[in-house]
Amino acid sequence: MDISTALSALESLSSSTSTSSSGPLNALIDVQFTNAKSRILSGEDPKVVITELQKNVKNCKKEVEKGLKGWYGALGNVGKEVDKAFPPILGEISDAYSDPPLFVEPEAAEALDRAILESLGRRGIWDAVEAMEEETSLSYLPSKRELSTQLQYILTSIRSSNLQPALEWCSENSTFLSSPPHPSSLPYHLHRAVFRSIKDKREAISYAQQYMMGYLPSQPVLKLITGCLYTGQSTGKKLNGHSVHEDEADAEGEGELEELAKMFQNEFCRRYQWSKEDPLEVTVELGSRGGTLDKIEKARRVMGEHLGNVRKWDELPMEVPLPPSRRYHSVFVCPVSKEQATDTNPPKILTCGHVIAEESFNRLLKGGRRTVKCPYCPQETSQSVAQRLYF
Ligand SMILES: [Zn+2]
Repeated sequence: MDISTALSALESLSSSTSTSSSGPLNALIDVQFTNAKSRILSGEDPKVVITELQKNVKNCKKEVEKGLKGWYGALGNVGKEVDKAFPPILGEISDAYSDPPLFVEPEAAEALDRAILESLGRRGIWDAVEAMEEETSLSYLPSKRELSTQLQYILTSIRSSNLQPALEWCSENSTFLSSPPHPSSLPYHLHRAVFRSIKDKREAISYAQQYMMGYLPSQPVLKLITGCLYTGQSTGKKLNGHSVHEDEADAEGEGELEELAKMFQNEFCRRYQWSKEDPLEVTVELGSRGGTLDKIEKARRVMGEHLGNVRKWDELPMEVPLPPSRRYHSVFVCPVSKEQATDTNPPKILTCGHVIAEESFNRLLKGGRRTVKCPYCPQETSQSVAQRLYF
């Protein structure tokens, strides 16, 4: 079991009526009490009715207690998993962590508080944000709060199959979304999802004509439309009020909605120059689940004090395998020229998937050749096909 499994086990308790305290209690109040009252009013012997009711109250108490036991167990598991994933007190592991102590300097403590506050605000957990504002001297900017609320609202709408708020946001921000160098394909993907959810072919095509023709130069709009003519609208989801069919499409639909939500979040963050991901989440994930802290501790156990003071390291002296989503390529060095890519000498991807810098590409184009032979594999890439890559 890891933290997320323990947390989902805990969460699943709240959705089950047998383990939620309000489940049995509600049944007692709504059914048993109401029933007893009407029986007494209709002239039944109150003594009999009350004795029965007492029995039911006792049973209900037992049920609530049983549910509570489940809660305590699941809560305990979460605590155990948290302890397992995060080393308890770093200072007890090594002096390196307590000399100088972590987050004691006012500046460092404030930076930590700020990172936590930003993370809470970004997720829209406002009661926690307010509690933290009360406990520290920090405050979350009202303008940011407004944006974060909007982001959460639109994400929730997308996940519940309502793409309208996202589409409205796209049209309000259409200039930003369509401007170079990174014109966004988000509006197209949103419209495509609506298009695919419309069962009636004629209706679907008229939707495409109305909203999607602007994306013709960059997206396979015609393929999408002709595909629908040949095969019919196969996906069955309920989007924006268009009714549809089939259960099996639900899982696929959910995946697609999650993709759209992610895509939307990326564009929203880009629009307001927020980091793409929550920095605190990335740090914690790399440190704990990503295994970085584990690796350092393992190395320390093996190498002892030879490892030196970890706080003085500029980079990790050991390799830490990261999940693909956590690999960042902010720097690209051309494998041919060994030079770092710049805006004037950007990386270019060849047909085979190998990447070299533009200057190296142009050098390989000498003698009026129109194609370049990849320096790593024999594949040729024509000048017009090589694409600039953005990291
Ligand atoms: Zn190649």
